[in-house]
Amino acid sequence: MNKVLALFTFLGPVILIAQTTPYFQQKVDHVINVTLNDEAHELDAEITTTYTNNSADELSEIWMHLWPNAYSSAKTAMAKQQFRDGNMFMFYALAKDLGGIEGLDFKVDGISVRWDFDEENPDIAVIKLNSPLAPGGTIEISTPFKVRIPSGEISRLGHVGESYQITQWYPKPAVYDRDGWHALPYLGQGEFFSEFGTFDVFITLPGNYTVGATGDMPLDADNEAEIKRLNKLDSDTRAYFRVIEEKGLDFSNNNEFPESVAWEKTLHYHQENVHDFAWFADKRFKVLKDSVELPHSGRFVTTWAMFTPNEEELWKDASDYLNKSTYYYSLWNGDYPYNHVTAVDGTISAGGGMEYPNVTVIGESGSAFSLDVVIAHEVGHNWFYGILGSNERTNAWMDEGLNSFNETRYLIENYEGKDLGVISGQLSPKWIERLDLTDFEYRWIDELAYIFPARFGSDQALQCHSDAFSSINYGAMVYKKTAAVFGFLRQYLGTERFDTAMRAYFSEWKFKHPSPSDLQASLEKSCGEDLSWFFEGWIKSTEKNDWAIVKVKKTDNGTEVKLANRGGLSSPVEVVVFAGDMEAGRVWSEVGGPNDVIKIEVPGKGATRVEIDPGRYDLDYDRKNNNSKTSGIFKKVEPLQIRMGTRLEDGTKTQLFWLPVTAWNAHNGLMLGATFHNTTVPLRNFEWMVTPLVSRTAFTDKTQLGGVANIRYSNGPWNSVVRYSRFSTLEYVSLDQDLFIPETEATPMNRVSFSLNRKFNKVVNSPWSSSARYEYARVSGFMDSNVFTSTASRQSNSFSFKALKKNSKPLGITQNMGVELRSFTFDLIKGFLIEPPQLYRTTSVAILANYSAVKTLNRKGKKITLSLITQVTRNDINSGFNFKMPTMGFGAQYDPMADVLLLDRGATSGLLSHQIDMPNGALPLNQDAIHNFSSVRIDYTLTNKLDVFVGALGINLQSNGEDGDYVAGLAYQLGPLSIQMPLYSKSMMDDMEVEGETYEPYKYWMFSLNLRDLNPWDLVRKTN
Ligand SMILES: [Zn+2]
Repeated sequence: MNKVLALFTFLGPVILIAQTTPYFQQKVDHVINVTLNDEAHELDAEITTTYTNNSADELSEIWMHLWPNAYSSAKTAMAKQQFRDGNMFMFYALAKDLGGIEGLDFKVDGISVRWDFDEENPDIAVIKLNSPLAPGGTIEISTPFKVRIPSGEISRLGHVGESYQITQWYPKPAVYDRDGWHALPYLGQGEFFSEFGTFDVFITLPGNYTVGATGDMPLDADNEAEIKRLNKLDSDTRAYFRVIEEKGLDFSNNNEFPESVAWEKTLHYHQENVHDFAWFADKRFKVLKDSVELPHSGRFVTTWAMFTPNEEELWKDASDYLNKSTYYYSLWNGDYPYNHVTAVDGTISAGGGMEYPNVTVIGESGSAFSLDVVIAHEVGHNWFYGILGSNERTNAWMDEGLNSFNETRYLIENYEGKDLGVISGQLSPKWIERLDLTDFEYRWIDELAYIFPARFGSDQALQCHSDAFSSINYGAMVYKKTAAVFGFLRQYLGTERFDTAMRAYFSEWKFKHPSPSDLQASLEKSCGEDLSWFFEGWIKSTEKNDWAIVKVKKTDNGTEVKLANRGGLSSPVEVVVFAGDMEAGRVWSEVGGPNDVIKIEVPGKGATRVEIDPGRYDLDYDRKNNNSKTSGIFKKVEPLQIRMGTRLEDGTKTQLFWLPVTAWNAHNGLMLGATFHNTTVPLRNFEWMVTPLVSRTAFTDKTQLGGVANIRYSNGPWNSVVRYSRFSTLEYVSLDQDLFIPETEATPMNRVSFSLNRKFNKVVNSPWSSSARYEYARVSGFMDSNVFTSTASRQSNSFSFKALKKNSKPLGITQNMGVELRSFTFDLIKGFLIEPPQLYRTTSVAILANYSAVKTLNRKGKKITLSLITQVTRNDINSGFNFKMPTMGFGAQYDPMADVLLLDRGATSGLLSHQIDMPNGALPLNQDAIHNFSSVRIDYTLTNKLDVFVGALGINLQSNGEDGDYVAGLAYQLGPLSIQMPLYSKSMMDDMEVEGETYEPYKYWMFSLNLRDLNPWDLVRKTN
């Protein structure tokens, strides 16, 4: 014990154990005999597991994974995760679609033992040993078992017809390591952690199945015929493709299953140093066999492609993808240590593909490029998952992320010279040129996938538990951001040092369970350099990297550059100087922390321009401050780029975009103009937009300039917008020819607003989300429908809070609630017919609360919705002017602050007067809501677009007592258009009866248009 540790004696034991327990790992060897029954879709098996305790601890129990039970009911951890992500399959699944493991009878060394299911998870069990297993001791755990194979639609274990994906299918000990037992329920999002050992698996099944599996087929009596059969399938497949090519025939693409033959065969697979065993059986498989020479050892590895006719035109080249990916992953990370790599074509629902030792299963891919990507990725998992067996549940970046980094590198290596659009088949070369994407590197997708959510503040640290990631971030962070940050580390260390370090990590940790600190220690040892800045900040936090050029000065030897770290990460920074278009010099700075200022000298003659990280490696959050000229007055002003539409964000240019725009409303008529903006891909924190529109108003026949403009700044959960709009509203005053008509063209309506928004949804995967908003708005030049009154200006201040609780259980209830407090101040001009007009000021306050609960009734989305709205208002009655609030669904004349884009603002007749602003749960009633009221509405879905509703309204009129209404009708929803028709309205029918008329519901329909949702940028903001 040293002196420092002695200070901690009283809390020492924990620390000392953590620090001094040497690495160990258990050894787990399995012998499994299994028979496939392809009529009942069942496996009948028995397993004997030899468990060797290499720990220093006596073990009194062994925790076991029984993962087929993850498919047994809607109550398992996997099922719950699926509901959370909106997948209801397991909840509604029929018994035949579910799966499970049965018939277990555990014996240890041949003697029965007590065992129990975990209380929470039916896919975890614990075996209580009759006598403890001593350190160094070995036991034999054996049991028979039956597996009901679930539908392949659920997850990774399953069958689609008679195509079998047999994965995570046998009773298997959980990992026991320095941190104790890791008993994990099976999850779709969140992968594996298993002990290494030797497998001998004997599979019995009808003779015409072809099997792709973990493990070699030893040349024994069992396998002799099968090896011949596989070789024949390979030559048959080659002959088949040759005939198709020579004769120009179509591919068969016949996916029918042949009948199973009556005779059975038993296949034997053997493999050492793997931590799982998976197998895939299909009678339709065509087979291509090939081999690849490994770069370091020169050893040959056999590659097998086994595929159905479904996409055989793509799979004919699969050997090539298998060979190349095996070669490059070996080259960069260390030679593949096993004898074969197999890819099988299967219909699985766990993403595009899934990895198992030696064998990967690939989903439908659609294009040769996608098939290459998926095969490379899944083959790559042999290294990052198979050989380097990290705990994927807690450190998913170590397998998915490092593997994605290699995948990107593989694509750059194999598609060199081809750009993104061509290789992905999404864009034609013409469009790539038009969109300035000719220089786009595939690698940048990794960075973009990170920057997008980071700009919204919804990114997450790489070091998170798999189940704690939102499903978007599991892809964007774990896969893509990890790939990008390791791309940066490689750029910093240099390819040779980086590759040497990764191979050192591979040889130190192969067939073991490396943790993040093991990876760090291994890389640091190899590089001889402290990399804690990378592993602490870049892996464990959401801090941003943002270096800026502060000052540039020419010196005798080159260029002196002063850099400031404006981000929250410690990192080195690469600075490059250019002489014209040519690179003149390049230097890495030392590692600098947040707020550090560093001076470096970059050698190189004739420098005209300096840029930080021109190759886009360092995930720079703001590339606008990465550039400077070496001389001149406006050193940091970038050249202007003007383009139509939008482009990728480019920090070396001041980007300006435009698009022609046409618009229409009833008062301006047709408007022509253009929108100018700076919105790029990805969205920026600071954005502006100006859309001037010119129109010739029908009524006055004069040209008018109107339009909209806004400035937006967002940072994480905060978002602020200043908006201005100017449109005409005056035309309708001509309706009454006899009245005095005011200066009609003088005052188009001007609206200015400022809003500040805050989102509160930091807790990932919580069913709750909420937001708060403050808005100030001012409208001038607004004509009221009462021509005797006009407003000089209207102002409102509103504060609103909204909360949403999403469905967290199948058939659960989604609840939406909001409260809004709003004050209005109107400056009124009364009486155009009197001289001079009188000015009044009137104020009003309203509180509006709404609540709705949506209960989903079945998997097709049938719903019942309850909506409640209550409003309390205080009007200034003395003004003699009662204004309305747009809360109930009124005609186009009621929108006091011009919040809504109305096509015929103020209209009291005609088609467009039916446009309303329809807040959620409002009743489509022609009732003034200037008073206090409460309403209740119930909607029931008839079809996916049509609802039937009933509602009741109670009004407390401030001056003259109570009123109310009952209403029933239909609501139809088509994209942003919603149509509501009250078929029955008690008050209206009463009124009409008095006047001797009949109620004709079709006259009282109303529509609302949610045009804001048509803006693609707003959609992106909303979903983030
Ligand atoms: Zn993967």
